Amino acid sequence: MNVQTKPNLFHFTRAPRPLIDRADGIYMWDATGKRYIDGSSGAVNVNIGHGNRTVIDAMKRQMDRVSFAYTIHFENQPALDLARDLAARLPGLDRIYFVSGGSEAVEACLKLARQWAIATGQPNRWKIIGRMPSYHGITIGSLGVTGDAVLTPAFEQMGHAMPLIPAPVVHRDRDNLSLEQRGTRYADMLEEKILAEGPESVLAFIMEPIGGAATAALVPPDSYFSRIREICDKYGILLIHDEVMTGIGRTGAFLGGDHWGCKPDIVSLSKGLSSGYAPLGALAASERIVGPVLAMGGFLHGHTYGANPVACAAGGAVLAETDRLGLIDNAAAMGEVLKAELEGLSARFPFVADIRGKGLLTGAELYADPVAKVPLPRELNANVRLIDLAFERGLIVYSRRVKGGPESDNFMVAPPLIVTREQIGEIMGLLGDTLEALAAELDL
Ligand code: PLP
Repeated sequence: MNVQTKPNLFHFTRAPRPLIDRADGIYMWDATGKRYIDGSSGAVNVNIGHGNRTVIDAMKRQMDRVSFAYTIHFENQPALDLARDLAARLPGLDRIYFVSGGSEAVEACLKLARQWAIATGQPNRWKIIGRMPSYHGITIGSLGVTGDAVLTPAFEQMGHAMPLIPAPVVHRDRDNLSLEQRGTRYADMLEEKILAEGPESVLAFIMEPIGGAATAALVPPDSYFSRIREICDKYGILLIHDEVMTGIGRTGAFLGGDHWGCKPDIVSLSKGLSSGYAPLGALAASERIVGPVLAMGGFLHGHTYGANPVACAAGGAVLAETDRLGLIDNAAAMGEVLKAELEGLSARFPFVADIRGKGLLTGAELYADPVAKVPLPRELNANVRLIDLAFERGLIVYSRRVKGGPESDNFMVAPPLIVTREQIGEIMGLLGDTLEALAAELDL
């Protein structure tokens, strides 16, 4: 069970890591028997928690019947059922296409939008406006709409870096505007960008309704959403919501955008869709978009593992468990408890500020000076130290140095949606110890 000193396998980070042995609910154990609380639900994907027997049994039953059937040759029942069950929860977005992950789901959204433009006689529309900072995936196409000062320039010659507007990081602004006025101001930047690029060349705008990886549970003011939709409609531009992290109940509603009654044209899903039990992603779009593309000859997309029967069986069981266990309501209720607890920690540790989030996607910022919004010096590596100090104490948190836009270290607490009030207490105890150690180490 020992980790090889020089394994053949490599990952996107360099640090050595313990070997995972087993997991159950919100807990994970490594091969030495050490226990961790999964306070980040893996990559904010294990929504229903680890070791769910219903999901495992559904996958086993499907594997016994048929593990793979190529979509060119066959329909499969789990994919048909999951598409029906998703469509029932997504009014107006009832055409579903399955892929294997979040980046692929975003790629599929971009390509569907482009094919829609061609099919509807608008071939000059190809630009997709994104935001800085943002995260939409790690493939060449999804990186093209991602705003990240390190990732974007590394690959921009190989794909196409798309126009970006600032993300509505309203808590960092120091002006005299109200939050709602700031929301409108950030949304208006989309119109300015469309006009600068030439409205006839702009195809779509992509955004996460609640920012995840790049902005740690950033919730825009209400005014942002209606103004964005208004601008998209004014210029005939498609609105793509990337709900890879926020979808399937994470924020206390089925989609993150549901909190504002948003009506996007295309939505990407992954992560919580299969809750980590199998690689799965999806796009959901309206018939207005899909119809012309299919009429033109078909969607030019298709991976070997698309609509995989075992992955879709996992997705179907995850949706059923989400309903049976009332996880969306639990996410909403426990999210309030979690945010209140985080506010308490912020009072105890003033360098932790700007607590935010919805449901069980919560976040905070780390500052040298929280009033003047001065970030911690980059050399302190506060985000890495926070992760490591928490990990030592048996707590997994999600922390990042934001690169692009106003720099900062932030972190998210996003446990599985099955989390109980007592378990939130347990998380907060460990997080408090972690922040105390961080303060002592970095002299905060
Ligand atoms: N889009 C969003 C909003 C994400 O948060 C992520 C992953 O964190 C992705 C896309 C990419 O998903 P994946 O890592 O499954 O490729």
